[in-house]
Amino acid sequence: MKVTVTGGAGFIGGNLCRRLLDHPDVTEVAVIDDLSTGSLENLEGLDVDLVEGSILDAAMLDRVCVGASTVVHLAARGSVPRSLADPVRTHLVNATGTVEVLEAARRAGGAHVVVASSSSVYGANPELPKREHLAPMPVSPYAASKLATESYALAYQRSFGLPVLAFRFFNVFGPLQPAGHDYAAVIPTFVDAALGDRPLPIHGDGCQSRDFTFVGTVTEVLTEAVVRRVTCEGPVNLAFGSRIDLLSVVALLRDILDAPLEVEHQSPRPGDVRHSQADSTRLRELFPDVEPVAFEAGLRATVEWFRSRRAARA
Ligand code: NAD
Repeated sequence: MKVTVTGGAGFIGGNLCRRLLDHPDVTEVAVIDDLSTGSLENLEGLDVDLVEGSILDAAMLDRVCVGASTVVHLAARGSVPRSLADPVRTHLVNATGTVEVLEAARRAGGAHVVVASSSSVYGANPELPKREHLAPMPVSPYAASKLATESYALAYQRSFGLPVLAFRFFNVFGPLQPAGHDYAAVIPTFVDAALGDRPLPIHGDGCQSRDFTFVGTVTEVLTEAVVRRVTCEGPVNLAFGSRIDLLSVVALLRDILDAPLEVEHQSPRPGDVRHSQADSTRLRELFPDVEPVAFEAGLRATVEWFRSRRAARA
């Protein structure tokens, strides 16, 4: 089977391409990526058919989607702060771009489409854990654009019978996730700072909590969704309901690295939610065989990856 991955040169995309190519049922992987945040390095050594271009370009999309059994749609302009800086661009890529991908899937004969929404859609809704039927309350343009991503996908399922699965990713972490830029996620920022002997920056008091999912678990679920062509009428949380606050992440890193690690508190970021934790009932019903990688094991694997990359670059 052929699988197309939009945003395949990104963090999750690069990990997913690797996993898909290891699966005996997958014969071909095609990628479309404009390399705005992704990089060719993430696909190094992989036998993928890469089209360098934007999902906003219908002709480019047709080139990669032809003959695809499933399109995994990961391409997006990520990060809450980036969306506050340029909401229109975020809308264009994340909302309009999703409609373009869904149209391409229709033109390709009705390919199965798996889309990446986000836990940020729950936003200001304080209820925990986050169950999919809670009212979405986006508090950033990014979150609103991700709500549009999943809404369009599910509407195409209802309107045109397109088989779709809309995942709400929570905080994904692991190898290939970049650090060292303004919009970097928290775990790579912490690990990079720790290995570079710099204080770990924390926005706010550090008591905010997240349901972190190791990228290997995310790609396992995505691959199974692709191979079994899993669909669902509503969105599906892709996280397993384990919640950890940032100060505890720092404590765990101290243990792993056997180092004191200083922290540096900075002002809280606008648009950030306080706590996040998934209800994983729907996910476990659809994917009963997936056992998530434990947080500490994932953190160790992430540290190892950062270490080996630093060594290779030294
Ligand atoms: P990423 O930035 O590493 O990957 C996104 C990829 O899309 C990049 O390779 C980028 O170059 C590409 N891209 C951006 N605009 C494009 C365009 N117009 N045309 C073609 N390619 C384009 O981010 P990621 O962390 O791998 O996230 C993948 C998906 O998962 C995104 O949709 C993101 O919103 C979603 N998500 C991620 C997380 C997380 O914790 N990482 C959480 C929630 C949702």
